[in-house]
Amino acid sequence: MIHKKSREEIKLMKEAGRIVALVHNEMKNIIKPGISTYELDKIAHDIIRDNKAFPTFLGYNGFPATICASINEQVVHGIPSKDTILKDGDVISIDVGATFKGLVGDGAWTYGVGEINSANQKLLNATEEALMSAIKKIKNGINLDEVVGEIEDVAKANNLGIVRQYGGHGVGRNMHEEPFVFNYRTGSKVILKSNMAVAIEPMLNLGCDDVYVLEDDWTVVTKDHKPSAHFEHTILVTDDGAEILTKI
Ligand code: MG
Repeated sequence: MIHKKSREEIKLMKEAGRIVALVHNEMKNIIKPGISTYELDKIAHDIIRDNKAFPTFLGYNGFPATICASINEQVVHGIPSKDTILKDGDVISIDVGATFKGLVGDGAWTYGVGEINSANQKLLNATEEALMSAIKKIKNGINLDEVVGEIEDVAKANNLGIVRQYGGHGVGRNMHEEPFVFNYRTGSKVILKSNMAVAIEPMLNLGCDDVYVLEDDWTVVTKDHKPSAHFEHTILVTDDGAEILTKI
């Protein structure tokens, strides 16, 4: 059952999304060689609390931090640490959720640290393009497969791997609601309707599709250890399009 949001829920989700965007705006400014992912986490936590929201990820299934900070071959769910210091040329994916009065906003962005090489820049550009192309397709009555087909097509056109085991999701009172959103066509029969909210989040790799989980039981890395990128927005389906609730 895919839940349609009430007017009040939409209002609260917009505020949750705004707070997620505030965090990303700050991350964009402070991500530089020499800063630790622990410091990024602390700053994200303070922004969320200062805006009367709660960090959705903190404690979720035991996750120990406010943000997921995933560097280079790390795809998602990297754990911030004082020992993880950003270096020139890294790419870092920051994923963050904010819960405002019980409603969730969820958004991820991959940032270059200092100067990044052209292959990594292409990876970031293409993954962002995949996200935005998918969002452009969304409107009341569209089949979800048509939406995620955009992600698959952009990935293929750029010769990038598509992470298969993780994907987007419905979002609202819970971070993860129905439907699950694969980042490729599956023959889905799911039809998006006005006032549904979903997180669209392509994860694309410079190399192969395959990933595995490190011994910390959280960090997902690419099997060939090539870099990965992750871009995510929480969106609201409208009659004639989609409203991005986490717009940076
Ligand atoms: Mg998500």
